[in-house]
Amino acid sequence: MRTILETRSEDETRAAGAALASRVPAGTWVLLFGDLGAGKTAFVRGMAEGLGVEPAEVSSPTFVLVQEYRGRLPLHHVDLYRVSESEVEDLGLDELSGAGGIVAIEWAERLGQPMPTAIRVSIVDAGGDRREITIEENAGAYSDR
Ligand code: ADP
Ligand code: MG
Repeated sequence: MRTILETRSEDETRAAGAALASRVPAGTWVLLFGDLGAGKTAFVRGMAEGLGVEPAEVSSPTFVLVQEYRGRLPLHHVDLYRVSESEVEDLGLDELSGAGGIVAIEWAERLGQPMPTAIRVSIVDAGGDRREITIEENAGAYSDR
């Protein structure tokens, strides 16, 4: 299933993230794609809000590769911007699968292995404050989790 939406502000992108996080089960992986400044972090902030995380808890990931926010479900926020594809394997991200929460990964193209069951969120700057957000999910994505 593919959903395409256009947002016109950071708040609208956060709302889109919140809506997604509110309806997916524990164990869901969300892979985010898009250039620097596209709005990936804004979307993940929205996901955290959708899970009931205190907004003050959600800071921009600086040099922390994996941040955990505690909401209705834990949200593990990973930013692979500064990580090379060869280093990704050493991070042990697979272990997050067993953590009972939701995993959101910025710069997911750095993940070497394909993840067919993950939800893919691609954000493109459409000029000014407009962003085109494409959300792709497989119909059977949750069946093996
Ligand atoms: P990324 O994580 O993809 O590098 P960020 O979420 O950190 O991007 O930053 C997105 C920037 O774009 C922020 O400065 C935000 O205010 C701005 N922005 C403008 N319009 C939007 C929009 N519609 N959605 C998301 N961010 C937007
Ligand atoms: Mg970011």
